[in-house]
Amino acid sequence: MAIQYWFAQGKQNKQRLLTLRNGYHGDTFGTMAVCDPDNGMHGMFEQVLAKHLFAPSPSCINDEDYADEDIAQFRQIISENHHEIAAVILEPIVQNAGGMHFYCPEYLRQVRALCDQYDVLLILDEIATNFGRTGTLFAYEQADICPDIICLGKSLTAGYMTLAVTMCTNKVAQGIAADGSGVLMHGPTFMGNPLACSVACESIDILLESDWQGQVKAIEQQLFDELLPYQNEDLVKNVRVKGAIGVVELHQPLDEQMAWLPEFIVDQGVWIRPFRNLIYIMPPYIISSDDLSRLTTAVGVIVKRLSS
Ligand SMILES: *Cc1c(COP(=O)(O)O)cnc(C)c1O
Repeated sequence: MAIQYWFAQGKQNKQRLLTLRNGYHGDTFGTMAVCDPDNGMHGMFEQVLAKHLFAPSPSCINDEDYADEDIAQFRQIISENHHEIAAVILEPIVQNAGGMHFYCPEYLRQVRALCDQYDVLLILDEIATNFGRTGTLFAYEQADICPDIICLGKSLTAGYMTLAVTMCTNKVAQGIAADGSGVLMHGPTFMGNPLACSVACESIDILLESDWQGQVKAIEQQLFDELLPYQNEDLVKNVRVKGAIGVVELHQPLDEQMAWLPEFIVDQGVWIRPFRNLIYIMPPYIISSDDLSRLTTAVGVIVKRLSS
């Protein structure tokens, strides 16, 4: 969409993407090319993938600690390559599958300003953060910015049906239409599937009629209270919580020798899937406080079992 937009503006050199290290955007060929090239799961496809540009993962967690050096490399890459860059794509506020990494809204504001300055579209991949997960309906609201293109998915249908959505501003839509061809030339067979769309509409209605803000706040508080104590364990590097996301990061990755782990976790009566050096939980907003405690307790049991 972004590339076709620039094509229609007569800027046919703008065909590359700029993204962040530690990002994850999916498993198809287009998206594999913007996943982290080192920690991604797609190393074997390296030769086939498009070559895009990567800026460091944002390091600043709170706006108060933000410093100009946090955006310096991103700024340098965009200023040197903007003639070739169609869009920046990134996960706002939380980088998910690439490391459950949180970063500050100020970074996003800076990215938005640089995209405007250099005529680059901003694509926000909210697939993991959309519909309240980080405490706001969309994570980007925390930075008070607006993307040019946004990707929605996952909880869009509460997981009941497969559906994803790509939305854009009028500027992008009309920019594409301005060209003679006039339409986006991509339409898989089941695009706009009516069953999936009605599930999504119903799911969004249920969410918006609920007290999701109150629920996410309560989950956040409970995750803080019950996960933060694990910070003192030797194996644990960092415990962090944002909205209804709780993460326990270990110093060492879990490796093949831990083949016993999945069964051990199930034996605790919970489904938790650790990956690399991360044990994380993203519970549904309707979870009861008792069930959430069961999850956080299990995380503690896992950490202690790993330490022994
Ligand atoms: C899961 C995920 C995707 C992939 O979505 P699919 O619908 O499985 O292609 C993309 N981006 C982010 C941030 C995700 O978490």
